[in-house]
Amino acid sequence: MSDKYDVVIIGSGPAGYVAAIRAAQLGLKAACIEKWLDSDGNSRLGGTCLNVGCIPSKALLDSSYKYYEAAAKLDVHGIKIKGAELDVPAMIARKKKIVDQFAGGIATLFKANGVTPLVGTGKVLAGHKVELTGHAGEVSIIDADHIIIASGSVPMEIPPAPIDNELILDSAGALELQEVPGRLGVIGAGVIGLELGSVWNRCGSEVVMLEALEEFLPMMDVLIAKESKKILTKQGLEIRMGARVTHAEIKKGKVEVSFSTADGEHTEVFDKLIVAVGRRPLSENLLAPDSGVTMDERGFIFVNDYCETEAPRIYAVGDVVRGPMLAHKGSEEGVMVAERIAGKHAQLNYDTIPSVIYTHPEIAAVGKTEQQLKAEGVAYKSGMFPFAASGRALAANDAEGMVKMLADAESDRILGCHIVGPSAADLVQQIVIAMEFGASAEDIGLTVFGHPTLSEAVHEAALAVGGHAIHVANRRKRK
Ligand code: FAD
Ligand code: NAD
Repeated sequence: MSDKYDVVIIGSGPAGYVAAIRAAQLGLKAACIEKWLDSDGNSRLGGTCLNVGCIPSKALLDSSYKYYEAAAKLDVHGIKIKGAELDVPAMIARKKKIVDQFAGGIATLFKANGVTPLVGTGKVLAGHKVELTGHAGEVSIIDADHIIIASGSVPMEIPPAPIDNELILDSAGALELQEVPGRLGVIGAGVIGLELGSVWNRCGSEVVMLEALEEFLPMMDVLIAKESKKILTKQGLEIRMGARVTHAEIKKGKVEVSFSTADGEHTEVFDKLIVAVGRRPLSENLLAPDSGVTMDERGFIFVNDYCETEAPRIYAVGDVVRGPMLAHKGSEEGVMVAERIAGKHAQLNYDTIPSVIYTHPEIAAVGKTEQQLKAEGVAYKSGMFPFAASGRALAANDAEGMVKMLADAESDRILGCHIVGPSAADLVQQIVIAMEFGASAEDIGLTVFGHPTLSEAVHEAALAVGGHAIHVANRRKRK
């Protein structure tokens, strides 16, 4: 096989592997370079998302929730389970099985679509060439008409708490614990901190979260963030806001963490400490100085709305470029770029990318928050519906949280939807579709929803925007 490709993709995470498959579907000769090795030293596709991100974290979230339900939540249904036990190694082994299965699935998809996987580290050279360095150090040069950089991101570290993945863990280490820590510290009450903190809290850890900011989940609508904090705190997560970690030290097999808050200096001792303070783009040693591709001071590769870098026919997608670090955002960028290379006029609507935190209940959002609309001077109306008034949520004994919908005051076009509640991830997706089609709140209000479903809460929130919700008192009454 010749070493010239229509498109070479660097990285096989959800941005890269999806781009590779779509390019091949469109008749382009595509190769995907991946350097990841599994614990046995075998090449591994799927990137962060599959190996140490979305999929393994959700496997543990699901397992831990089932245990928590069995141990503490079923009495109300009249089900008494005595002595529910947790086998942590079995839970971790199940997670590994799912990840292995999915990785094999991507390899199969590559084969079925005719994508060539290349093992090793890729580097973009000048003149549309990619240097491939194999794991044994052998170097080859590949010609590529187009290059897509999808090198992803890695966890950020902070000097006071260096990762050893024994006692001080990054997110990948926190997915591998073989026993439940008695006391678990988490630095950062963001998405990863809340998800992994929830996993181990449900399994029995006493979890203390240290968050530098004073505001909880600042990217979320304030009403939803406040409600989420209340619910998660009730579940046992101790969330300390405005906590600045100054030092972490291993002492007698435990981690002693010093931090300051508005009311002074504090010390806590933990069995394990998770550091979840954000992720940074993985872009070092990726570009030759004369590649023509540029990046900002934090390492994000500069791209325009079409993911074109400053070098012609070189693109970058996923976590290594601006925007939310979300698997589906990267995948859709990968599809857009593959289609544009193939001559299609694809684009991506960045205004309708949903985000979800997979706690229980889930926290999900799309579009603008009320605070953003106020700051932008947009006149809006809002409607809210609490799950406490949803028959289906009550039947399931899962009735915490609410749906909040925001629409333009004049046109009634939906501008945002924010949910904390059961199955929020799936509920918000209905509004993602509605927003893609430019729907108004009235359109949702006029749509028939099955009864009894959780989706009815979305319907009622849309009716509430117009002041005529049926199953909750309307703040603003309209005809
Ligand atoms: P990555 O998935 O990071 O993949 C990049 C790949 O490129 C890697 O395999 C890397 O080895 C390879 N690579 C890098 N440089 C080179 C090189 N020079 N040569 C060859 N290969 C290279 N997002 C969600 O949307 N939903 C979730 O539920 C979710 N949960 C998460 C849970 C955790 C614990 C974490 C850590 C992340 C989670 N994310 C989630 C974020 C999600 O994983 C990322 O947004 C996503 O993986 C980014 O995809 P990507 O393809 O851009 O990069
Ligand atoms: P994050 O940005 O969501 O949260 C990091 C938190 O750490 C922030 O609240 C920040 O204020 C805090 N922080 C930073 N430095 C600190 C310090 N020194 N001391 C105390 N607190 C500090 O980042 P994350 O949780 O690490 O996740 C990384 C990325 O991965 C996110 O962008 C997220 O989108 C993605 N992710 C997504 C999902 C999902 O979609 N469900 C799940 C996990 C991760």
